[in-house]
Amino acid sequence: MTSIAQLIIGVTDLAAAFLFMYGLKRMSSPVTAPSGIFVAGIGMLVAILASFLYVFDAGASAKPHLVANAGLGVVALIVGGGVAWWAGKKVAMTAMPQMVAIYNGMGGGAAGAIAAVELFSARVPGAVQLVVTLLGALIGAISFSGSLIAWAKLQGVLNKPLRVKGQQIFNGLVMLTTLAVGGYIVFVADRGVTPLIPMPDLIWLFFGCALVFGILMTLPIGGADMPVVISIYNAFTGLAVGLEGFVLQNPALMIAGMVVGAAGLLLTLLMAKAMNRSISNILFTNFGTVVQRKQGDIKGSLKPVEAGDAGIFMRYASTVIIVPGYGLAVAQGQQKLYEFVKLLQGAGVSVKFAVHPVAGRMPGQMDVLLAEAGVPYDLIFQLDDINEEFANTDVALVIGANDVVNPAARTEKSSPIYGMPILNADKAKKVYVVKRGEGKGYAGIVNALFYGDNCDMVYGDAAAVLGKMIEAVRALGTKAAA
Ligand code: NDP
Repeated sequence: MTSIAQLIIGVTDLAAAFLFMYGLKRMSSPVTAPSGIFVAGIGMLVAILASFLYVFDAGASAKPHLVANAGLGVVALIVGGGVAWWAGKKVAMTAMPQMVAIYNGMGGGAAGAIAAVELFSARVPGAVQLVVTLLGALIGAISFSGSLIAWAKLQGVLNKPLRVKGQQIFNGLVMLTTLAVGGYIVFVADRGVTPLIPMPDLIWLFFGCALVFGILMTLPIGGADMPVVISIYNAFTGLAVGLEGFVLQNPALMIAGMVVGAAGLLLTLLMAKAMNRSISNILFTNFGTVVQRKQGDIKGSLKPVEAGDAGIFMRYASTVIIVPGYGLAVAQGQQKLYEFVKLLQGAGVSVKFAVHPVAGRMPGQMDVLLAEAGVPYDLIFQLDDINEEFANTDVALVIGANDVVNPAARTEKSSPIYGMPILNADKAKKVYVVKRGEGKGYAGIVNALFYGDNCDMVYGDAAAVLGKMIEAVRALGTKAAA
């Protein structure tokens, strides 16, 4: 029976790993992404169900607890699955980063918990396995507590970054203490000597220090940098899960962990590159503390116009490029935006969307938003593919975007976004910027584009403004394109 159970577990783990990777591959294009998520979800289900097969492969000491443990597993599945289903249905697009943070924290916590069970039961066989277990425990615990702080910041529970003098030195000392305790645990276990304090207390101390380090490391980072931090923790969680998979000799955990770890790392690098910042700059430098240009330094003025007039102007243009940003997601104006685009197309206007890699608050957020409204993928262009076109475009419609079109990134060395590639909206013949007022973008800086001679401001909530544009263009007798 045992060998049959092991064979089935091995085959299902392999199937789950294949489904994870195939799903991930399909997630690389917006067209195939929904099915990719579904496939990877099936992989997860297969892996979870396979874990119940361990019931048939249990050792003598585990046998008396089998029914109770399997029952607990089912309860955990129902509670966890139920909460996730409800939260997934309810969450707003703009609250996605928080949700990812909390789920990621749970992953790190789960890896840490697996390590804790192994460490407290003292069944880790050798020094190498013990080091791997402790490494997974360390990374998992940091990811758990750090992700919870990231969640609290994004949710607005913690509003201000906590920064005190000498903080980084203190954080370094906490990390050194954690490593020293971990090293001592390995030394004691390997040499068989009696520890200065009981082993369980040492393990508690190790976890305590790691958890505190995760909190301390995340507290000083500004809320705005949290999506990148979450991505780093995502890589950490993957690594921790992979390491614990090695300890448990579970291939599904190993593969899933490594895939998540690698994906998190690549995403982090991608985001940092798109923001032109290094990872160490994000983690250890206080974003936005550099000297910033003041409103008074900028020439020109803000020129408000009516939404209807802007809409009619675009109706008679030949080419329009739309730059969506975070504000569009806040306003949930994507359906109205596409309705407006179809009217423009009906009037013979060529319309394209220009998406910046860090527009919004999560990578890919704008792509998902536009896909949700049914915008065809061939209208959506990424920065490098469209930036040259702005100079020959009649109108750039910047809707709820700010930093991703801020020319300060090109010229202002003291600006926090200096060096970040931006969409060349300012080079279009005419620019309309839709935003509610004089609110700043995520970087908290003034945008000279808005003061340019070729730029007019259309004030209002993006969805409401689009409603008025639609009304004005329809009033001209324009029909939407099919
Ligand atoms: P920004 O945050 O720079 O600007 C958004 C603008 O939208 C604001 O100026 C705001 O002005 C306006 N706005 C807010 N609500 C509404 C609404 N209801 N209707 C109309 N306008 C609204 O957004 P961008 O997308 O341009 O830039 C994203 C920024 O986030 C970048 O700096 C990027 O580095 C950062 N970031 C992105 C990450 C990602 O992965 N995408 C991760 C981490 C950071 P007002 O208040 O006047 O309306």
